[in-house]
Formats: sequence, C-alpha cells, structure tokens
Amino acid sequence: MKPIKPVYEQINNEIESIQKGIQIIAVTKQVGVERTKEAIDAGIQHLGENRPEGLIAKREALSSDVQWHFIGTLQSRKVKDVINQIDYLHSLDRLSLAKEIQKRADRPVNCFVQVNVSQEESKSGLAPEETVQFVKSLEHFDKIRVVGLMTMAPNTSDEETVRRVFKGLKALQLKVAAENWEHAPCTECSMGMSNDYLIAAQEGATFVRIGTALVGTESEV
Ligand SMILES: *Cc1c(COP(=O)(O)O)cnc(C)c1O
Repeated sequence: MKPIKPVYEQINNEIESIQKGIQIIAVTKQVGVERTKEAIDAGIQHLGENRPEGLIAKREALSSDVQWHFIGTLQSRKVKDVINQIDYLHSLDRLSLAKEIQKRADRPVNCFVQVNVSQEESKSGLAPEETVQFVKSLEHFDKIRVVGLMTMAPNTSDEETVRRVFKGLKALQLKVAAENWEHAPCTECSMGMSNDYLIAAQEGATFVRIGTALVGTESEV
C-alpha cells in the first residue's frame, strides 16, 4: 500500500487551495490498527469508524490525542458501548437515538444530524423538510450539542447531481445556524468522501470523510 503521509499532504493541499480550515477525517473502517497508527503518525488528527467494535479496538490500541468520529448508523442498543468513547457522532437521525444518548452520555456529545438530501430509499437520514423541526426538538436534551449536519452523496459519477446534494446540505446547515439555538450552533458541514471531496470542499464542507483514497483498504479487516 502507498505510504499515507504524501497522500495526506496532497489531499490536504488540494482541499486547502479551495478553502482553508477544512478538517480531514481519515476513515479507517477498512484498515487495521497498524495502518491507523501510520495515519496518526502522518499527522492526521481525526479518525472515523462506522462500527462500535472497530472504534473500541482502535481507540484502546492507539494514542489518545486524536479525535474519534462515529460515522455509521448507530443502533440504539449500541449507544452505551460507544457514546462516551467518541468526540463526534455523524449519524443522529431519529428521536429514539437522541433519547438513548441522553440516557447514556456522561457529557454533552457533539452530534451531526444526518440528512438524506438525495432522498434515496437506501440511505438513512432525515428528509430535508423535517430537519429544522427535528433539531429544534432536541433543545431539552442537554447531552446533545448539534454541531452541524451530515450527508452522503448518491453513488454516481454525475458531478452536477452530487453538487446539488452538497449545496442542499449547506443551505440547510445555514438555515439551522440562523436560528441561533443555544443547543445547536450548527456551524459544521460533514460531506465528501473519496470520490467527491473536492466538490464537497467547493460547496462548503467543513469536515470531509475520506477512506479509500487516503488510507486504502486491507482485505483481511
Ligand atoms: C465508508 C464511509 C466513508 C468513506 O468512504 P470512502 O469512499 O472510502 O472514502 C465516509 N463516510 C461514511 C459515512 C462512510 O461509511
């Protein structure tokens, strides 16, 4: 596999030339502990996992001064296993999950509300038109801090379709932010993966989540 550091630097340069300050989350769900350690040694500060087992195993094995992002669908019964181990949750998409977090978290958790901007059946997330009301409904959950919105673009090579989805999330994020709710600063936009991070950066992402193009995939994981 390619060394991570030069790839990271290249991606970082590409993104920085579009917009400064975008955070890169290395999605390590398809690589092991050693490769994840290489990512940390390359200077990566944000790591993303989509399964509780992967997150817990890597967090135990690795340095603690990185930020852990849970980016996958989180089953309510798994909340207790991960919620106090992570710095950000990218997949808050239902009230029942919010209630479980409220019950299990020891401190306020930085959450992204996941929005299904493209309205594909196969994707989780709230419908765009439900999102503002959903965020408002979280105001009495003192363990939830809505830092932003998250979406996944459709898996298509049609750039305009992808761009439209990212523009949609950005507009919605600004709309929630404009409400000035104390529980929901909503300053962040989590969007863009290996195939579309440049489009996401152009459309106002503040976090991009990159796996394959950055750390690669290891077949044995
Ligand atoms: C796997 C995953 C990514 C990274 O995908 P790549 O195409 O490998 O960059 C980003 N976000 C989520 C939610 C994922 O599940």
